[in-house]
Amino acid sequence: MRLILIGPPGVGKGTQSALLVQRKGLVTLSSGEIFRREIDAQTDLGRLANRFISQGQLVPNEVTIEMMAKRIGQLDVMKAGFVLDGFPRTIPQAEALDELLSDMGKPLDKVVSISADDEIIVARLSGRIGCTKCGEIYHARNKPPKREGLCDKCDGPLFVRQDDRAEAIRARLQIFHEQTSPVIDYYGEKGLLQLVDGRQDPETVFKVIVGEIGA
Ligand SMILES: [Zn+2]
Repeated sequence: MRLILIGPPGVGKGTQSALLVQRKGLVTLSSGEIFRREIDAQTDLGRLANRFISQGQLVPNEVTIEMMAKRIGQLDVMKAGFVLDGFPRTIPQAEALDELLSDMGKPLDKVVSISADDEIIVARLSGRIGCTKCGEIYHARNKPPKREGLCDKCDGPLFVRQDDRAEAIRARLQIFHEQTSPVIDYYGEKGLLQLVDGRQDPETVFKVIVGEIGA
């Protein structure tokens, strides 16, 4: 199975990717992770990307596409199937991905758009608390730490994630909608789009994604 997961931050994409890896043996390809991999390995592409990232600039399309192409072309990914997360973000990226996959004779099976109302996402994310030491994520309501302000796992100090405060979340959602609605439309026109209601519980969302609903 080769698919793309599209959805706003906090809609549960990470959970679904993890389930697809665990239960369907897919490989997750996230652009952020691929960037880090190339940068850590100090490849030419990694150094190039890092020049933009270190200056707080967006990595240009061509560089991103070349990195994704390299990773997708690797054998384990092609055998296993993949789930793309965070890519493509723009029409040129989507077009380049189509070209790449059709050259390989491995077109996309579907593009899953998981959605939920902005206000639901704001409510979900704004209670998020992170550990400064180990990165464990808690939630003020859904998953509170046992002791206030301290990590259950490592005793590290907890903080309310800066980018998760309500205003910042609304700004991120705004950017997401502006950036990705053309990409969603693009796949809709190709007949690849599957819309999933992200308010459902993760197991139901998973069943919809893998087509096991009612089967
Ligand atoms: Zn911790």
